[in-house]
Amino acid sequence: MNGFHRKGQDLYCEDVSLAHLADVFGTPLYVYSLGFLQEQYEAFDSAFAGIPHEVCFAMKANSSLAILNELALMGCGADIVSGGELYRALAASMDPKKIVYSGVGKTSQEMSEAIDAGILMFNIESFSELIALDAVAGRLGKKAGISLRVNPDVDPQTHPYIATGLATSKFGIKYDAVIEGYERAGRLPNIDVVGVDCHIGSQLSSLAPFVEAATKLTDMLTLLREKGFDIKYLDLGGGLGITYDDEDPPTAAAYGLTLTDLMKDKGITLILEPGRSLVGNAGVLLSRVLYTKKGTDKRFVIVDAGMNDLLRPSLYDAFHRIEEVKQNQREPEIVDVVGPICESGDFLARGRKMNALVAGDLLATMSAGAYGFSMASNYNSRPAAAEVLVQGKKYAQIRTRQTYEDLVRGERPAVF
Ligand SMILES: *Cc1c(COP(=O)(O)O)cnc(C)c1O
Repeated sequence: MNGFHRKGQDLYCEDVSLAHLADVFGTPLYVYSLGFLQEQYEAFDSAFAGIPHEVCFAMKANSSLAILNELALMGCGADIVSGGELYRALAASMDPKKIVYSGVGKTSQEMSEAIDAGILMFNIESFSELIALDAVAGRLGKKAGISLRVNPDVDPQTHPYIATGLATSKFGIKYDAVIEGYERAGRLPNIDVVGVDCHIGSQLSSLAPFVEAATKLTDMLTLLREKGFDIKYLDLGGGLGITYDDEDPPTAAAYGLTLTDLMKDKGITLILEPGRSLVGNAGVLLSRVLYTKKGTDKRFVIVDAGMNDLLRPSLYDAFHRIEEVKQNQREPEIVDVVGPICESGDFLARGRKMNALVAGDLLATMSAGAYGFSMASNYNSRPAAAEVLVQGKKYAQIRTRQTYEDLVRGERPAVF
């Protein structure tokens, strides 16, 4: 399935013209291909067919209910990082037994909600978190299943903001303190030690760092079993990269084969937490050109989507391909595609060669399915965009555009 492709000069999502969707729902608009999403999930899941496994979608990549719902229908679980994500996962009918809970700052309230929901396990990131979880579970009269998130000190060779398995990062428990951590966990009355976990970073473009981390984790598994811990789950996190521009990341099949080889005789259920690789290329952000203008040494194309809709270019200097929804034959020029936000860092692309654009042209910012809408904000009091899911010739609006009333909901003048 090619989720987005041209028919003549027009860009389509499956069998629906993007220009039509922009006319019906307005812009900025997120559009997703269900067929592509399903295909990515199936490819990922079947890559691990040789070993017991669970695919727990890292829902911070895209937490829209309809997307979660479709993934749940295919048997996918969730990797959550907050009580809000737990609420969404349950609202989307995700099986709690396929939910793992990651993140360095879980509150007691959030822990309690997750224990009540009956999730599979907590990925614990510090000793103090472990103590807090034991207390919460005790109050509820239940046991909480845990793994410790190991910081394997592996360089994933990615953007520093999304490298999480280096010794200098805030994530995980340092490798030489892990055994002690399990011994402490083993003494806590309301904690059930069930797994080992790591997540080394995002948008990885080679297998080597995964292999290095997996090897460190299986070494740890052997040590823990020698010490009598009954480890059932080995969670390798997410991080498989996608093609935004000319990156050539490993396929899900290659990733699965390599990891299955390392893990297949270890007597564990492998847990994977892919986010970006399932949804990244399943979505685009549509925007319309409002104005163009000539600066001192370049042209600006001002569109109606900004960093509040898609933060990745501003935050990570990330590259997203930008396509004209209807190809034009004008002369190419070098432009900055910028949004309406009052920040110089508000851009979707800089120094990009595109056929000359004029007001009214529609643009599709590609590869916007992951860390797109989920990172959106109301900065500059801009209502959140609408979202549409496409299946073949059919489409469904899965989120209505926010209204001005939505923007100020819950606010009021001070009454002292
Ligand atoms: C962000 C994150 C993921 C997903 O990463 P992707 O690169 O989107 O696959 C998985 N696990 C944890 C703990 C994360 O924080």
